[in-house]
Amino acid sequence: MCGVIGLFHAGEEDVFPDAVNGLFQMQHRGQDACGIALADGRIVRHHKGIGHVREVFPSRPLPDFSGFVATGHVRYPTQGDNRVRNTQPHVVSTLRGTNLALSSNGDLTNYHTVRARLEEKGVDFLGTNDAELILKFIAWEHLEGGCSLLEAIRRMQREVRGAYSATLVTGDALYAIRDPWALRPLCFGTSGVLHVVASETPALDIARVDLVDEVGAGEVVHFGREGITRHPHPDVASVRHGSPVPAHCIFEHVYFSRPDSIAFGERVYDVRRRIGAWLARHEDEAIDVVVPVPDSSNAIALGYAHESGVPFEFGLIRNHYVGRTFIHPDQARRDDGVKQKFNPLRSVFKGRRVALVDDSIVRGTTLRKLTRMVRAAGAAEVHLRIGSPVTRHSCFYGVDTPDAEALIGSRMDEAGICAHLTADSLRYISVEGLREAAAGDGHFCMACFTGEYPEPVREQKASK
Ligand code: AMP
Repeated sequence: MCGVIGLFHAGEEDVFPDAVNGLFQMQHRGQDACGIALADGRIVRHHKGIGHVREVFPSRPLPDFSGFVATGHVRYPTQGDNRVRNTQPHVVSTLRGTNLALSSNGDLTNYHTVRARLEEKGVDFLGTNDAELILKFIAWEHLEGGCSLLEAIRRMQREVRGAYSATLVTGDALYAIRDPWALRPLCFGTSGVLHVVASETPALDIARVDLVDEVGAGEVVHFGREGITRHPHPDVASVRHGSPVPAHCIFEHVYFSRPDSIAFGERVYDVRRRIGAWLARHEDEAIDVVVPVPDSSNAIALGYAHESGVPFEFGLIRNHYVGRTFIHPDQARRDDGVKQKFNPLRSVFKGRRVALVDDSIVRGTTLRKLTRMVRAAGAAEVHLRIGSPVTRHSCFYGVDTPDAEALIGSRMDEAGICAHLTADSLRYISVEGLREAAAGDGHFCMACFTGEYPEPVREQKASK
């Protein structure tokens, strides 16, 4: 996961403050590192670093770090190698003075194959990042292959497989590029003079631009002095191996996106409310109180409460300064992280039959700890209600799920999981229930639940 932004000001005003604010609104998509590249009609300058947006950009890094075109990125923490080299945006400059910068969200599935082909042509790589590959592919086709930038992007789209929602900056133009499956979100908006492209709509809201649309599947949108030009993919089904339908990542609705975002045409908050309502309609236990695992499950639990009439309470108080517990490589650190993160309110739980709502179960770390915590706080019964189906398969498109063996849902059946988590009962939303709640065009990638990937995945996740 990551967040990207792109900005273009038709009046040639500086967009640096809007770039910083937009990235800050997407901080939840990545807290590891961030960066911005800006162009002023000629030169592309960039600044990036490890840390949160406000740490890397407490102020303008240099007096001349300004421009009317920008691309920016927040990076999700991963266990990758050299962190600075893999930080985005990536930039290429040539002796001819052509500068390009690109930020992307999503993982590619044929990285090694494409990289080997580029290396044969003499292209050098600094790191092992997917966005660097995308940029260098486009740059090589454009600068060495001699085709237009749009044609270079089309060639990249025909070769590169997987998920990418990207923004590309030249000296004086911005491009928004989305993979043919439209796996990760990407939208754009305008105020008339300021155009903003972003992973999530709150980055548009903060810049006071109105949402126009999503960048379509396989579409390239060009923002330049002549305005906004949309280039739908001429042959999107062929680059999807004949599939007529896209495959939007359902996990954006379940967990990743902010509730105030509009993702794949639907307000995430409303989708989560509908998920909770589905869980309430399928309830067969007597429940006294519904409690979310904050914050990602708040709207789900609220939807449950409204549908069922069961009282909603914030029974678990979250410490917001713990950071990501999910990513720690060792289990002991993950366990400790859960304890540091949540504290129960005894008065909410004492003697009650509790529906404890979480958006997903990955390894089972969080809910095993919380079930015990809630019981120790006096709950009479703990019923776990989950806003997504059983996570059984790894994601190859950018959601940081561990390898399949680490997923509790790939090792145990539901009764086994319930016993492992020491709960009184456990219910997941069904695949169809989730699809219905997510609404939109109904075309989602649900491979983490079903194992049905939009296209065959040959290269292995761990090998990059
Ligand atoms: P686990 O404790 O391993 O079962 O992970 C489940 C918890 O982590 C849930 O509370 C989710 O909100 C959260 N979660 C699910 N997927 C991710 C992800 N890709 N990155 C970070 N957190 C996640």
